Amino acid sequence: MHSTASDGRLSPEEVIVLAHEKGLELVALTDHDTTSGLDEAKKAAFSLGIQFVLGCEVSSKALGTEVHLLAYGFEKENAGLNSFLLTQQERRNDRAAEFVFRLKKTGDLPAHSSLPPPEVGRSIARPHIAKLLMEAGTVSEFSEAFQRFLTPGCKHFVPKPLPDGRDVVDVVHAAGGVVVLAHPGHQMPHRVVLQLIEAGLDGIEVVHPSHDEGLEIYYRDLAFQHSKLVTGGSDFHGQPKHGGMTLGDYWIKPGPEILNMALKSTP
Ligand code: AMP
Ligand code: ZN
Repeated sequence: MHSTASDGRLSPEEVIVLAHEKGLELVALTDHDTTSGLDEAKKAAFSLGIQFVLGCEVSSKALGTEVHLLAYGFEKENAGLNSFLLTQQERRNDRAAEFVFRLKKTGDLPAHSSLPPPEVGRSIARPHIAKLLMEAGTVSEFSEAFQRFLTPGCKHFVPKPLPDGRDVVDVVHAAGGVVVLAHPGHQMPHRVVLQLIEAGLDGIEVVHPSHDEGLEIYYRDLAFQHSKLVTGGSDFHGQPKHGGMTLGDYWIKPGPEILNMALKSTP
């Protein structure tokens, strides 16, 4: 699940309260390239009696393809992990500033338009820019902002500088966590999945709103063949579009490894 620590619409606490209302019993907050929402979410989870796993969705690339890697159950204060994530956040700030600069130049954003001021631990992502385009009246919907300005191939698109996925695996392992390939059904070439498995990937996200039954079976089998963890979730962002209000609709019965990670998070 995602919160305002990155591109979600609800605060970490609000996400957990909603997860509780939806009847979830074990959850993870996995904001993009940041762990800054975890303390608040964890506190809320424990006060409501939900098991909580520390998480973070790290953007990376493998064989030229953008790959999102879910880190779970790591030591939150690990210096290597934190310095890695700080670099990711700085890259995101620079990229977003470049997007805004280009969109102002073309007149698609007004001169007074500005992103929220950079804040340590908060990850800026494309939805923040979509919001500016909506506020400016340039687009009427998030999906239109993505279609016209924020998708690779758009004239003023700024690519996201990405670290190698194999390095993410190493950094997360050094922080005591596990690494799960997020939503592989997003047109991920098989050779990318194989390279990551070779690099020490621990699991595959099998259940996801973008996976139909066929993909779920395919990735469950692949995880089984390679003795990898199976995870699943809603990828909830709190947006009615893109992912939708999916909280509570996508879940798995957690295996012992996941239950163990949740226990590690006990305050
Ligand atoms: P970024 O990390 O800056 O590349 O932004 C990625 C985020 O953009 C994803 O987590 C989604 O929340 C959002 N996103 C990607 N594609 C779309 C889309 N077509 N419509 C709405 N949101 C999108
Ligand atoms: Zn993702």
